[in-house]
Amino acid sequence: MIDYNKLRVRIRLDNLRHNYRLFTKIHDNVIPVIKSDAYGHGLVEVASALEKDGATTFAVGFVHEAAKLREAGCDKRIMALLGPISDEDIQSLWDHRIITPISHFTQLKRVLAAAGKNGPLDIGLKFDTGMRRLGFLPEEADEVAALLKGGPVTPVMATSHLARADEPGQEKDVALQAGRFQAALDGLARAGFSVEANLANSAGGMVHDNCRLDSMRLGISLYGCDPLEGAGEERLPGKLLPAMEVTAPVMQVHPLKRGESISYGWTFTAERDSVVAIVGVGYADNYSRALSNKGEMVLHGRRVPIRGRVCMQMTAVDVTGLMGEGIEVLPGDEAWLLGGPGERPVTPEELAEWGGTITYEAFCLLGQNRREYV
Ligand SMILES: *Cc1c(COP(=O)(O)O)cnc(C)c1O
Repeated sequence: MIDYNKLRVRIRLDNLRHNYRLFTKIHDNVIPVIKSDAYGHGLVEVASALEKDGATTFAVGFVHEAAKLREAGCDKRIMALLGPISDEDIQSLWDHRIITPISHFTQLKRVLAAAGKNGPLDIGLKFDTGMRRLGFLPEEADEVAALLKGGPVTPVMATSHLARADEPGQEKDVALQAGRFQAALDGLARAGFSVEANLANSAGGMVHDNCRLDSMRLGISLYGCDPLEGAGEERLPGKLLPAMEVTAPVMQVHPLKRGESISYGWTFTAERDSVVAIVGVGYADNYSRALSNKGEMVLHGRRVPIRGRVCMQMTAVDVTGLMGEGIEVLPGDEAWLLGGPGERPVTPEELAEWGGTITYEAFCLLGQNRREYV
């Protein structure tokens, strides 16, 4: 957690819960994905909030994230998407009752060996249907099933991940992966294993009906974003609401006369007499330097553009327009980097676009600042 700055990240748990409930209306079994500190929204806080709406399974990344959630008092099913890496992780599967997809033979054999000492265990199986990151190949399903047959380790879930679910017009590639996944499921079924199958992420769950299966893993849309830029939201019974807002204080306000330049490299020169506000946020706060001369903030309900380079802990914005309307900007005023009052709050999509990235990264990075919950 970054604690040397004046940033405030506000998490609106009510909006997050609203987004979750939208998905529970179109899917029977929605697994919230709360890896990487719930995409910067807070692992334990988000899990506790969603428990109130009936979430019965949570997905995190590494096994120790799952253990942390268990130790915080969560008694629901916890799934660690990335699987066990160390002996400690493997032991943790029993100690913390964690279900994790096993993705290769070396790992499977280590888990089977540990079962000799620890007793029965339910696991998931991850199949690589095209991401080429983790997972057994679908054609290995029979061999995997043979290793597990009659033993103490039982596959109760099968999972795979889509590479192009969020790209319009890529139905063919999605169907290709869905077909490969079905082949793996068939292999497990032939061996007599009945598993909960999940393939869809947010985008898959919204628009790819062939990926519905038994459960879906809901990540980015839980946090208010439509990875399909509106085409996904259309399929939901309501609007997604952003859950993260970020502010920083104005430190100083002063004129920037016509012809004067500002910040490192003098990359911006005023074409007219202007007024700038210096806001106490910079790249040390995970507010990207790529926003230099590109991004915007909200001050007193109005958009203000960034002028010059974003520095380590300071960023200048042009407030000439506000001053012209008689709105006085003063040191101590709150500037909104994300969200904000007025007609045009800064959206996660805009912030990501200006910074040359995606909403996922914007959330993970800004969420590392001090958070408060409203
Ligand atoms: C992160 C992740 C998800 C969630 O994806 P979104 O696009 O955020 O909905 C689902 N499944 C796996 C395996 C993931 O790693």
